[in-house]
Amino acid sequence: MSDTRKSHAELARRVAALEAERALTLRLAQTDSLTGLVNRGAFTTALCERLEAARASGGTVALFVVDLDRFKHLNDTLGHHAGDLLLAELGERLRNDCGPGEIAARLGGDEFAIISDATDVARRAQRLVQVVSQQQVIYGRQVSPGASVGVAVYPNDAAHASDLQRFADMALYRVKTAGGRRFSIFDAELRAETERRRTLEQELRRAIPAGEIEPWFQPVVDSLSGGVVGVEVLARWNHPEQGLLSPAAFVPMAEELGLIRAIDEAVFDAACRRAAAWVADGLIELVSCNVSPRDLLDPGFSRKLIGRLERTDLPATALTVEITETFLVQDMALGRRHIERLAAKGVKVALDDFGTGYSNLRALMNLPIQTVKLDRSLIADVGRDARVSKLVASMLHAARALGVSIVAEGVEDEAQALFLRSTGCDRMQGYFFARPMSGEAMDAQLRAARAEAPAERALRRASR
Ligand code: C2E
Ligand code: CA
Ligand code: CA
Repeated sequence: MSDTRKSHAELARRVAALEAERALTLRLAQTDSLTGLVNRGAFTTALCERLEAARASGGTVALFVVDLDRFKHLNDTLGHHAGDLLLAELGERLRNDCGPGEIAARLGGDEFAIISDATDVARRAQRLVQVVSQQQVIYGRQVSPGASVGVAVYPNDAAHASDLQRFADMALYRVKTAGGRRFSIFDAELRAETERRRTLEQELRRAIPAGEIEPWFQPVVDSLSGGVVGVEVLARWNHPEQGLLSPAAFVPMAEELGLIRAIDEAVFDAACRRAAAWVADGLIELVSCNVSPRDLLDPGFSRKLIGRLERTDLPATALTVEITETFLVQDMALGRRHIERLAAKGVKVALDDFGTGYSNLRALMNLPIQTVKLDRSLIADVGRDARVSKLVASMLHAARALGVSIVAEGVEDEAQALFLRSTGCDRMQGYFFARPMSGEAMDAQLRAARAEAPAERALRRASR
């Protein structure tokens, strides 16, 4: 062989090796390493290509999203390695179950997807539920994970990949909240919901600058005297057609859309302006505001809040900021920085919904938190269920030992109020005393109470 031919052959070999390497890298980049299925990135590309092809040929595409019903539980009880084995086995099953022209992918966690043509969608979905639900033996234990499947179809339900995915997810979510182990196909009911959401989203964006979201107030009473000592600020959306909407109808969406910050600021400013007069007139001592965990993730949150507060007439010492433990668990260091910065200005911090989550007493010990708000799910059974009563009594005891004051939320009847008072709960809030009300109504009530009982009030203030 001549030198030139030799170097040509050598070159060809090197090019081929590079090509093979590139193909392997490409495949690895498109493959989920645990299951060997197509990964999320490659899945999105494949779905777009299939839709493109269907558009050209007038065909149909069905997207099935599959989610295990109890994967987290399995992972927690059997360990992560067992969880991985289970997922790998499921990947194998899904691959074997796929017919020609179908693509199975792992989207992440315990979420899988199948792209298929859209013939007999219900039968295909039912088979997927069965295939995934079959028992497996892991570490000698029988496990049957159970699966839910959501389906959406091109072109009936959606024209684009992102909508198709969103709609299949909506169907999945619906069947999961109904108990799982079944499939659900996107339909008119879900379409109506997407429409409602879209409208609500547009309206919410408009409502904030239009000042339609306003603060309402719920009295917080002193357990011993029964007098109003403070208010909790609660957001209400004064919707032009639907009337008054409570936070459950718009706070989750606002958090998703990144609008919660604007809402919290608008509510805070308006509430401080209103309540500053009540504090100045000696009608109340405390104003408590809710903030979203999303707000707290901003490192500048506490600095900005103090800035806003200083532009109102409300004294810093009259303000309490209510935060939830969820946030503290997410980022303890940042939480500490916010809390300490607020405390340095005299602003108090309350831990909201205490007793529902981690109930982290250590957080109370290590952070300058002045107040705990006992969640209303605990209060509901207090004085009725002996075990809950004991639990609440011991929480009150622990809080007192730590020098933290307690507000019981959701007090709805006299039995609850009497029990809480007898166990030394400092303050209470709930329908038994008053429902949340508008600023005007709150103003009228506070001024009427003062006109009624000036002596009692003076006595109470003197005894502090
Ligand atoms: P939360 O902070 O736990 O507020 C107490 C909720 O319990 C309020 O519901 C209040 O109306 C309700 N409640 C008070 N007393 C009783 C009672 O005796 N029985 C019953 N069944 N319920 C009672 P609301 O106003 O619908 O607020 C729900 C949640 O929305 C609040 O829970 C809070 O987490 C959030 N939220 C309210 N306003 C704002 C806000 O301005 N910003 C943010 N980020 N979240 C807010
Ligand atoms: Ca609250
Ligand atoms: Ca609460």
